[in-house]
Amino acid sequence: MAVNDHVDLAGFIEGVKRRNPGQPEFAQAVQEVAEDIFDFIQDKEEYHRYQILRRIAEPDRVVSFRVCWEDDNGNIRVQRGWRVQNNNSIGPYKGGIRFHPSVTESVLKFLAFEQTFKNALTGLPMGGGKGGANFNPKGKSDNEVMRFCQSFMNELYRYIGADIDVPAGDIGVGGREIGYMFGQYKRLTNEFTGVLTGKGLEYGGSLIRTEATGYGAVYFLRNMLATQKDGIEGKKVVISGSGNVATHAAEKINQLGGKVLTLSDSEGFIYDPAGISQEKVNWIKELKNKRRGRISEYAKEFTGSEFVSGKTPWGVPCDLALPCATQNELTGDDARTLVGNGCKAVSEGANMPTTLEGVHVFKDAQILFAPGKAANAGGVSVSGLEMSQNSARISWKEEELQRLLEDIMAGIHASCVEYGGRPGSKVTDYVRGANIAGFKKVADAMLAFGVV
Ligand code: NDP
Repeated sequence: MAVNDHVDLAGFIEGVKRRNPGQPEFAQAVQEVAEDIFDFIQDKEEYHRYQILRRIAEPDRVVSFRVCWEDDNGNIRVQRGWRVQNNNSIGPYKGGIRFHPSVTESVLKFLAFEQTFKNALTGLPMGGGKGGANFNPKGKSDNEVMRFCQSFMNELYRYIGADIDVPAGDIGVGGREIGYMFGQYKRLTNEFTGVLTGKGLEYGGSLIRTEATGYGAVYFLRNMLATQKDGIEGKKVVISGSGNVATHAAEKINQLGGKVLTLSDSEGFIYDPAGISQEKVNWIKELKNKRRGRISEYAKEFTGSEFVSGKTPWGVPCDLALPCATQNELTGDDARTLVGNGCKAVSEGANMPTTLEGVHVFKDAQILFAPGKAANAGGVSVSGLEMSQNSARISWKEEELQRLLEDIMAGIHASCVEYGGRPGSKVTDYVRGANIAGFKKVADAMLAFGVV
């Protein structure tokens, strides 16, 4: 077979798995996208000839490095850090940094791949990247986290820059960690520049960045429901996670008149039949961000609620679901349970929280299903706006940013509708729409550059 002969979908996926051994999350993410793109490019010769999909699924570079730090007991600890720069065809690499013991090269490659399409969907000039380390900030003192962040940046600073690669937060990386990393970058380079987003408001951060991912996922949900002449008011909502994305999704659901029944963490979920009101969400934010506590403590604080240990919340009957914790947290069985209980719509606040099998269950049931690359793009969108504000050395007002966020989420929804039609289906296939719209923008830029 000649090198540029067309292969079929199965052959392509086989090749991805062979070239990336032991990287199941990466192969899963590529397969999900390739299922739609193969169909779309079938009659588009240029995309084949220039091997566009094959090239997008091969990161521009993966940098891996040792991160040494000293814990409070004087022990020397060794961790591994990475930055995956997937594609910078439409702008500087952009994507978060994750600190979690489950971080591997496969996880970061999947996230950087997804990020490439997500960033394209926002309409802002941002390429796709992701980074992180297998460091667990849980249970560490502030000083330990600071020393780790500084050591991590001692390596990372060589590969990033305001016009090269602009990391942000993700799981385990919030305002505290961004502050430590930004401080170290500034110290190493003697340069005050917008090299990270998610910064504190005192030093170049943007209003509503913290809220943007969770709020955006709910705006996307609202846009999907509107196509069915429906809304969020009065709906029962199940949410997983209790971090940045989950708490702000819960906040926005409350603002729009929905009732949040659950939140979770890696130890289990809380169920509150009375609803997790804004006051209770504020208590959880304090618990998580200041006291670094566990979600199980909620059940001791609020009577009538319960903590269910070791389980995910998908068995709780609901109208709407927002998985906002981590990848592959919602399986095929969970999806069948949700559909069986009458769930009408699912909006992914997390990245790839639904397994491939689960995605197919939602698609077959023809419920409204928004993949993370569309639904959770609000965070990176406001990060993009933070980059613009930093370049122009100005700060936009909150109302302006809220309006821009709602506009961007509406634009992403419209792009998904444009490309997500499926003959015989009564609802938009948002997975297909997001994949094709994101791919097309990056692919066309790549075509313009020729073979590079
Ligand atoms: P946080 O660290 O603030 O919160 C993560 C939450 O998910 C915690 O409640 C955590 O529980 C839970 N969680 C993590 N790992 C697991 C696991 N293996 N099983 C069950 N629960 C788990 O992260 P974010 O809220 O920022 O991120 C959540 C998701 O959203 C991720 O997929 C992230 O990539 C995605 N995302 C985040 C964006 C952002 O702006 N922050 C932007 C776009 C996407 P525990 O404390 O027990 O670990």
